[in-house]
Amino acid sequence: AHDIHIIGGGLAGSEATWQLAQRGFRVRLSEMRGSGDMTPAHQTDGLAELVCSNSFRSDDSDKNAVGLLHDEMRRLDSLVMMAGEKARVPAGSAMAVDRDVFSAEVERALLEHPNVTVVRERVDALPDSGPTIVATGPLTAQSLAQSIVEATGQDRLAFFDAIAPIVHRDSIDMDICWIQSRWNKRTEASNEEGDYINCPMTKEQYYAFHQGLMDGEKTEFREWEKDTPYFDGCMPIEVMAARGVETLRFGPMKPVGLDNPRDTTPEFPQGRWPYAVVQLRQDNKLGTLWNMVGFQTKLKHGAQVELFRTIPGLENAEFARLGGLHRNTFLNSPLVLDRQLRLNRAHHIRFAGQVTGCEGYVESAAVGLMAGLMAASELAGRDWAPPPRTTALGALLSHITGDAEAETFQPMNVNFGLFPPLHDVGKKQRKEAYTARAKADLGQWLPILERVPA
Ligand code: FAD
Repeated sequence: AHDIHIIGGGLAGSEATWQLAQRGFRVRLSEMRGSGDMTPAHQTDGLAELVCSNSFRSDDSDKNAVGLLHDEMRRLDSLVMMAGEKARVPAGSAMAVDRDVFSAEVERALLEHPNVTVVRERVDALPDSGPTIVATGPLTAQSLAQSIVEATGQDRLAFFDAIAPIVHRDSIDMDICWIQSRWNKRTEASNEEGDYINCPMTKEQYYAFHQGLMDGEKTEFREWEKDTPYFDGCMPIEVMAARGVETLRFGPMKPVGLDNPRDTTPEFPQGRWPYAVVQLRQDNKLGTLWNMVGFQTKLKHGAQVELFRTIPGLENAEFARLGGLHRNTFLNSPLVLDRQLRLNRAHHIRFAGQVTGCEGYVESAAVGLMAGLMAASELAGRDWAPPPRTTALGALLSHITGDAEAETFQPMNVNFGLFPPLHDVGKKQRKEAYTARAKADLGQWLPILERVPA
């Protein structure tokens, strides 16, 4: 007998299991590895296996958003953070772990826990009833993925994320760029001035940029990614560029209908069209993050930073995430999940981890932690007190459950662009101001977390 069923013993499922078990709830944790199944990226049967790098990234909780998330998870007795500490290897200000020690430590803690039953089995359909957390990750097995597609009514789940780079708004040089929608077209949702930030290019700049796209170093597809279909609208920019030097000027870099107000003549009092334009579109409701439209790419990260900073107005661009293209499985969470990570159409099913549209080991574990807390409050008959959105946990949760734009939803690492902005703090002090505010607000939340009556 169990109180809740958790499917997937990765980063998120293991953390959710721990949080529930520690609060006295009996958990059945189903993990398919160890029963003859494997994902294309995992190598072992161990719970919480790290499939690629061994880094939890920055551990600096004063200046870094993921470091802050570490701190918040520690304050909530996270198993992933405790096991990470035991498995820690030297890595400067970053937190890196011995992956085998880490996985063994997570597994030991769960196997020894009197409230946890780990079952090695593959689950092929969403359960019809009973509290459930689905944490099957970016490589969710096929039949379960199909069952999720049917339950959400969304026609796709497993596909490439074609990720265009996302830039922090306050790092864009607005003395060079300007805001305008093409032909000044607007909809009801439009901003007063226009919906796009436009970066103008001269002919010489455009040709040099095109050459940079052709020459830049690209990452290769992994073997198992090769037969996942491409979707229209997610072609890498360098593939489009390879079709001809002018192709991009008729695609994502089209300048028509965009009058550069800094290039006026008596004949063009509104400003002339540049030779080519890079457009950015608002990516979150806060307006702090903007994505480069049509710039999904397989250029290596270093090459992207170097090349994209040659774009006029982006010389000092700070990237909240760089572009990429790889196979992934995630929900359009802002559309199909409620604020408590439950399926809108079936409230007994809750999701956690990368499948909710967060990205990264730490973020996946953090969303697992929150799903565990939410389920625990539900099982205890209490109301859920959400983490303040000024905290890393709250900012991440708000993003995936509604603040991100559903239309362009892409997995996201935690970053300060997801936090409510602090406009009156100088740029140099801003990171410390975000983390100080977060730490204080988390301190206010922790005591009420388990006390809200229904
Ligand atoms: P997972 O850790 O993948 O756990 C999901 C678990 O569910 C797995 O154990 C799987 O076996 C199990 N499962 C799946 N389907 C079923 C089923 N039907 N029944 C029962 N069990 C099932 N993030 C980083 O921070 N750094 C990196 O370097 C990094 N590299 C990555 C490389 C690749 C190739 C991929 C795909 C992702 C990478 N990520 C990385 C992203 C992400 O952080 C990890 O994938 C992370 O493990 C996600 O955590 P999770 O708990 O959501 O999923």
